[in-house]
Amino acid sequence: ALYSKISEGKAQAYFHKTKNQVFYNPIQEFNRDLSISVLNTYSRVNDSKKLKILEALAASGIRSMRYALEVDNVEEILANDFDQKAVDLIEENKKLNNVEHLVKSSCDDATILMNSMSRNWKTKFDCIDLDPYGTPASFLDSAVRSIRSGGILLVTATDAGVLCGNGADTCFTKYGSVSLRTPCCHELALRILLQSISSHAARYSKYIVPVLSLSIDFYFRLFVLVYDGQMKAKESINDIGFFHICPECHTFYEQKYGKTVPTKGNVKFIFDSTSEYNLTKCQNCEATLKLVGPVWTGKLHDKIFIQNILSYLATKNDKDFKTIERMVGMLNLACEELDNPLYYILDDICSVMHCQTPNHNVMRSAIMNCNYQVSYSHCAKNSIKTDAPSHVIWDILKRW
Ligand code: SAM
Repeated sequence: ALYSKISEGKAQAYFHKTKNQVFYNPIQEFNRDLSISVLNTYSRVNDSKKLKILEALAASGIRSMRYALEVDNVEEILANDFDQKAVDLIEENKKLNNVEHLVKSSCDDATILMNSMSRNWKTKFDCIDLDPYGTPASFLDSAVRSIRSGGILLVTATDAGVLCGNGADTCFTKYGSVSLRTPCCHELALRILLQSISSHAARYSKYIVPVLSLSIDFYFRLFVLVYDGQMKAKESINDIGFFHICPECHTFYEQKYGKTVPTKGNVKFIFDSTSEYNLTKCQNCEATLKLVGPVWTGKLHDKIFIQNILSYLATKNDKDFKTIERMVGMLNLACEELDNPLYYILDDICSVMHCQTPNHNVMRSAIMNCNYQVSYSHCAKNSIKTDAPSHVIWDILKRW
C-alpha cells in the first residue's frame, strides 16, 4: 500500500508512505488541538456563530478533517493546496471521515484563491488558517483581504531562525522589520509577526486584535481577529514601536513614534516629543544599543478570551485532546503574563552581573517590594516580565 493511515483526535487520515510526499507532522498535534479549542471558543463567544473556514495550505487535510469533526458550528470548510497529490489525498480523507458534506477541496495557489474570494462578503471567510512550511509572509496580504470583519486569522510561522534574529536582512525582506538574537527574541518574533499582520490589514483600512500569540517549541502560532475600520486602522500606529536593545547586558528600551488623539470623527497623529532621541548608549553598561523593529507593542492576548478557552477545556479530557495538559499549562501562563513587552532571563542577567542566580521567587519578591509587578513569560523558562524600569532590576542585582 502506498498509504499509511493515522488517527488524531476524532479524525483519521491517509498520508503517503514515501518520503517527500504529502506532509503529516505528528508534532503539530498540539497546534491542531489548540486551534480546535480556539475555534470552538470563538464560535461560542459570538453566539454560536456558524463558521466558514479556509485551510489555505492543507496538505493531507488532517486539520480540515478535525475541524469538520471537532468544531461545533461549522458551515463549510474549504481545504486548499496547490499540489494535486495533496488534493487527491484530501478527497480520500473526506470519504474516510464521512465529512463530504462539510469539506470542499480546491487546487489553487493560496494567494490567488484568497484574492479571488475577497471581493464580496459572501465568498469571504470567518476563519482562515495559514499553516505553511516556513514563513507565512507571502500569504498575509490576501488573507487579511479575504476575511470577514470580525473574523479570525490563525497563523503558523516555523521560520524561527529568521524571526529570532538570524539574518536581519531576511527578516526585513519578509516582515519589514529587524530582529535580534537576544534572550527575549521569542517574544520579539511574535511582535514582529503581529506588526506585519497589522500593517497588511491597515493597507485595507482594517485592524487587528490579537487574542492569543504563542511561542511553541520551534514555531509560533497566532490567533488574531481582523476588523474593518478606517479610524482604528489609523490608530494601529499606537501599537507599533521599536526597541533599543543592549547586545551586552540585554537591557531594552521601548521607543514609540508618537500617538494619535481623537478629533471630530477622525484621529490626528502627534509625534512623541518627550523622548528626544538620545538613546544610543545603554544606561546600565554603556554599550552601544541596537535598533530593533518595528514591532507590535500592544497586547499579545485577550485575557478574557483565554479564560473562555480554559472554561471550554474544563469540559474536556485527554481523550478529547491528547495534548490537553500542555494546552492548559500554556494558556494559564499566557493568561497570567503582564502586558508589558519583553522580558529578562534570570540566569542571563545574573551572569551579566557576575552574581549567583537567586531563586525565581526571591527575585519576584524583590521586584514586588519595590512596588512593581512581575510575571513569567510563556516564551521562556526563568523569564521575568515586569513593569519596573531596567535600572530597578540592575539595582536589585547590584545589592544582592
Ligand atoms: N496544515 C497542514 C496540517 O496541519 O497538516 C500542513 C500544511 S504543510 C506545512 C504546507 C502545504 O502548503 C504543503 O502541502 C504545500 O503543498 C502547500 N503550499 C505551499 N505553498 C502553497 C501555495 N502558494 N498555495 C497553496 N498551497 C501551498
